[in-house]
Amino acid sequence: MKIYIAKTAGFCMGVRRAVEMTLDASNSREGPISSYGPLIHNPQVLEILREKGIRVIREIPERGSGTILIRAHGVPPEIHGKLESAGFTVKDATCPRVIKVQTIIRKHASLEYAVIIIGDDDHPEVVGLLGYAGDKGYAVNCLEDLDDLPEFDKAIIVAQTTQNVHFFNKVKKWAERIHPHYKIFDTICDSTEKRQVEAKKLAEKVDALIVVGGRNSGNTQRLAEVANEVGKPALHIEDESELDLGALDSAQTIGIAAGASTPNWIINKVIKKLEDERSQNGETWRRYFPPVQRSLLYTNLYIALGAGCLTYASTALNGIEEKIAYFFIAFFYVLSMHTFNNLIGRNSDRFNDPDRASFYDKYRYHLAALALISGATGIVTASAMGMIPFLILLAMSIMGLLYNFKLIPDQIQFLKYHRINEIPGSKTILIVLAWGIVTSVFPVLSEEGRITVASILVLLWTLGMVFVRTVFFDILAMQGDRIVGTKTIPIIIGEKKTRFLLKRVLQFSFAFLFLGSLAGAITSLGYFLCLPLILMALVILVHEYRKSFLGFRPVFWVEANFLLAGLITYFWA
Ligand code: SF4
Repeated sequence: MKIYIAKTAGFCMGVRRAVEMTLDASNSREGPISSYGPLIHNPQVLEILREKGIRVIREIPERGSGTILIRAHGVPPEIHGKLESAGFTVKDATCPRVIKVQTIIRKHASLEYAVIIIGDDDHPEVVGLLGYAGDKGYAVNCLEDLDDLPEFDKAIIVAQTTQNVHFFNKVKKWAERIHPHYKIFDTICDSTEKRQVEAKKLAEKVDALIVVGGRNSGNTQRLAEVANEVGKPALHIEDESELDLGALDSAQTIGIAAGASTPNWIINKVIKKLEDERSQNGETWRRYFPPVQRSLLYTNLYIALGAGCLTYASTALNGIEEKIAYFFIAFFYVLSMHTFNNLIGRNSDRFNDPDRASFYDKYRYHLAALALISGATGIVTASAMGMIPFLILLAMSIMGLLYNFKLIPDQIQFLKYHRINEIPGSKTILIVLAWGIVTSVFPVLSEEGRITVASILVLLWTLGMVFVRTVFFDILAMQGDRIVGTKTIPIIIGEKKTRFLLKRVLQFSFAFLFLGSLAGAITSLGYFLCLPLILMALVILVHEYRKSFLGFRPVFWVEANFLLAGLITYFWA
């Protein structure tokens, strides 16, 4: 069974913006937070918002307090005023593309145009749009209803932003034929359009299409309709528990598409369930390769191996003796710290990587033992090398362990942060520093007892590699981190600026390596180690183009760059 994932799957811009605005308001504790009507059409996201204490208000009370968010679909114009009069602070999360339709309608209604809205009259977006049309609005969702409308001297036709493109094309033809004087505005959102075009192409290519999304989400329903239009079976499911694998028995190729309000973690769970099925019934390599990949990642053996390889490469770059002990100290330190922090941070994994969260729940005692034993092995190995290596590793281990613990009691309220992990960006900075010290500074200090120009260049390269890796994973984990309130760099400065930052860091790292080798400050290995940097830049560019990266494989291939650095070093040596 071959699985194809639509690259448009996951939150659209408007939904992401509404969810982020709501979670940011909740995480900054701006008093009670509520949304006017359900924020988006996805029951799992709504449940999480409910768990975070975000209420849904359907009727405007006489007196309200706190912040209320207008959802992405928008509301009739009078609602804003009513909410403010009730005492709410209103935050408008209406999607900018819906605002554009509202503006068209408002303008033409004021010029006495009749407003024909192609959409479902009980859909919240259409309810809001009708509000802007006043007494001149008509919501229509089939050609028969269009024929029943009176003839207007002047009228505009607009579409609900998530309308079926195919159906709206029929409406356009109807208008051109019967009422050529009507003005038509194609207001279907391009995100909807792209999603439907991709779903159609995907449906043509595969034997069956799985559409993941809320049952009452208009745009998700349309994706299933699109698949049916090309004569392919489409399974509309809300989450992986509804996946009927029996119904897909005969399908050799399966496509996965998802609505604009479906979060990545639900799509990931569906992918995982299908992959499990495939590995049980597939050829030998399919049966074993993905589970091996997954186990290497979840146990952190793979990433620890990467840290060992980075150490090997950095010692070779520095031109110092490549002792196996340095490799193992980095290996055990990273294995211990990452496993320990994954155990503690299972909460955010529920949303970023639900599969890993359940792996850590299931094997928590084994993994705790692994973290302890590897941590102790690293410290013992370092102590065998002398007092300074021992103290460095001990200090770093203690710092890593304290990261998730409450260091300042709740009673001390004038301090904003009580744990290190609450400090914005602290996760990335600590990981990058810890890796930089253990893979690059530690061997130089142990061998030479001082920091050299070469070692600074090598340190900058290792910091660059680890920074890009860590922050790139932070981009992939933004949805879950926002839910649990972790302030990572992409959440603080935004995804676009973060990608820009990563590209600049890669360029600088490239320059340090290349020029360092050219000047003879570091060994000629520097030329060859530019390759992993180029590959990491490619991953970022692919992510930029594809928008969503789902499943665990992208993580596996990013980490592979560290192993590649080790391999290159081996052949160079
Ligand atoms: S589908 Fe388009 S119009 Fe609707 S919320 Fe998403 S981006 Fe906005």
